[in-house]
Amino acid sequence: MTDTDVSQRVERLRTLITRYNQEYYELDEPSVPDAEYDRLFRELQELERQHPELQSEYSPTQKVGSRPVSAFSQVRHEMPMLSLDNAFEQSEFEAFASRVEERLDSGSEIAYCCEPKLDGAAVSLLYENGQLVQGATRGDGQTGEAITANVRTIRNLPLQLHGNFPERMEVRGEVFMPLQAFAEFNEKALARGEKTFANPRNAAAGSLRQLDSRITAQRPLHFYAYSMGVVSADAELADSHYERLQQLADWGLPVSAEVKQVESSAGCLMYYADILERRHDLRYEIDGIVLKVDAIKQQQDLGFVSRAPRWAIAWKFPAQEEMTVIHGVDFQV
Ligand code: NAD
Repeated sequence: MTDTDVSQRVERLRTLITRYNQEYYELDEPSVPDAEYDRLFRELQELERQHPELQSEYSPTQKVGSRPVSAFSQVRHEMPMLSLDNAFEQSEFEAFASRVEERLDSGSEIAYCCEPKLDGAAVSLLYENGQLVQGATRGDGQTGEAITANVRTIRNLPLQLHGNFPERMEVRGEVFMPLQAFAEFNEKALARGEKTFANPRNAAAGSLRQLDSRITAQRPLHFYAYSMGVVSADAELADSHYERLQQLADWGLPVSAEVKQVESSAGCLMYYADILERRHDLRYEIDGIVLKVDAIKQQQDLGFVSRAPRWAIAWKFPAQEEMTVIHGVDFQV
């Protein structure tokens, strides 16, 4: 490719990805399968890496999600809600683990917290004195949409914490629609001649961003917590991510039973193989696993790059969405 070809391809990819982001995050109606999106995103990342002169802070590779829509009031996140870097192959996970080891230079095995990658929508929940006072979407990572009335309708999400919870605490997690509930929801919608959703992820995100919370209340949504955001300075928090999730569970927040602590990157490989095999037995959709360096001190040492932490990676499963029904049409990529 000549320099002009490269620069035109980069522009084309940026335009396409920006459009797909809008369809996916703002309209909850993607027009291409995730596998196709991921391929284009990777191609853009690779071209920008090979041609540093074409890098731009405005590129979608530097951004998280999409801007919040104006129909909702906005919430400024006290701590940005980032995305995750992706691995699609074992070698990419291993390269990530090697980078972690090199940067930490700890001389001993690195422990990880292994979690299912729930395919829903990220939310931030703010609890003050144990009471849920605010719910927000991730939006563009800096600013999200206020969806407090909507999250309050999610049945397994506690409005009041119990035990020795911090005075002020932000909890982050995923809202999703379990598979059985999704199938029943679409069946009923079809019978009534109403809009159906392409997949459980869009059903969850679309239901969460309803302007009328009575509609959200009728949707079978579920929540699992996967991290803490800002927490009162005097809170007594555990030193590891896994134990912090146990603390959240002790205070009444639902955490997936599939979360496991492993002692080394070899444990992550076993976790991946195990969940991949059981993937279809789970009652909710997952599109991979998330591996997080477990020690909070090591997470802090590793820090962040523009759109993702250096201490975590989403290892996606081989794309079963290569053939996915989008808008009732089989989409073959
Ligand atoms: P991501 O989905 O790859 O990873 C980040 C997200 O993972 C978090 O925001 C959180 O919501 C979720 N998550 C689930 N379980 C988690 C856990 N245990 N711990 C932490 N986070 C967890 O990144 P993204 O930026 O939300 O979205 C990018 C992906 O979305 C793409 O790779 C693509 O698959 C899809 N997408 C598709 C289209 C399309 O048009 N089809 C458009 C945009 C994005």
